[in-house]
Amino acid sequence: MPKIKCIGVLTSGGDAPGMNAAIRAVTRTALYNNIKVIGIKRGYQGMINANYKQLRSHNVSHIIQTGGTILKTARCQKFRTVEGRKTAYNQLKKHGIDAVVVIGGDGSFKGARKFSEEYNIPFVGIPGTIDNDLFGSDYTIGFDTALNTIVEAVDKIRDTASAHNRLFFIEVMGRDVGFLALRSGIACGAEGILIPEVKTHTKNLKAFLEEGNKRKKSSNIFIVAEGDDAGGAFEIAEKVKDDFKDYDVRVTVLGHIQRGGSPTAFDRVMASRLGYAAVEAIMDDQKSIMVGIVNNKIAHTPFNQTIKYQKDINRSLLKMSFVLAM
Ligand code: ATP
Repeated sequence: MPKIKCIGVLTSGGDAPGMNAAIRAVTRTALYNNIKVIGIKRGYQGMINANYKQLRSHNVSHIIQTGGTILKTARCQKFRTVEGRKTAYNQLKKHGIDAVVVIGGDGSFKGARKFSEEYNIPFVGIPGTIDNDLFGSDYTIGFDTALNTIVEAVDKIRDTASAHNRLFFIEVMGRDVGFLALRSGIACGAEGILIPEVKTHTKNLKAFLEEGNKRKKSSNIFIVAEGDDAGGAFEIAEKVKDDFKDYDVRVTVLGHIQRGGSPTAFDRVMASRLGYAAVEAIMDDQKSIMVGIVNNKIAHTPFNQTIKYQKDINRSLLKMSFVLAM
């Protein structure tokens, strides 16, 4: 393959804290290697619309600590169509972009894989999503920051829950996976963790609470992943309300607060490593892969596998959380 002279970089799908640190790392690594960098705004939509801006070193100054994404992000229906991807290809060619780094989740990688099947422009992915649901990386950019945001919020709720002997159902993000719920539940000493991967039997919740009462618990917190099979926090609270007449039940949905904020040091370091690795992979003629970190080492995983395989939660942690919450 001819030498890469110009790389495009974009953020796609849901935003995640640490995306800016990844953009910075991609930009600075490429410039160091005398490769021009084009920032593509608003994900695949911007690729189609040629919403491009050259990135120089100063354009990515002081963004390592900021949440959101300077390139904006979007979901784009047009990129799902043959014509949409053709327009995107023509625009990339017209602007001399030889390769693209996509920072996003599995949907973004599906799009990248599709494009790579049709056109000969290498795409390399960086896992950027608070959900941590990508096979091929132990953690995804944004997960640690979202986790810490949840922990801070739940700690505050615990104070008021204890003061009033209340039972709280706290909903966290996780439409299909319970990584955030599981980790935050452990970190906050939650009495219960309800996640999509494990069937929730609402009838069992009361017996569990009664056990806790015998041990003089002054408050109870259940962390609920939004995609739990029994429903979100409001739905579950509604289901158990007749059973829980003696409890003062409250519901909190943490919502979009989980997506924002300054990335943690962990996310900044990971984003820096992955941005650097993505450009190295492109220079090494790699394509249709996601760079990730497995056992603290950079790992390359083909898009096909990232998309096909489900990353499972560590079920032994769920059992442990149950024991520790007694
Ligand atoms: P998150 O995990 O935060 O939701 P994501 O990358 O999975 O992020 P999606 O909305 O699923 O977010 O996908 C982002 C974009 O990728 C879509 O808006 C679409 O443009 C493109 N895309 C997703 N799936 C496909 C597909 N099968 N073919 C072509 N493009 C796709």
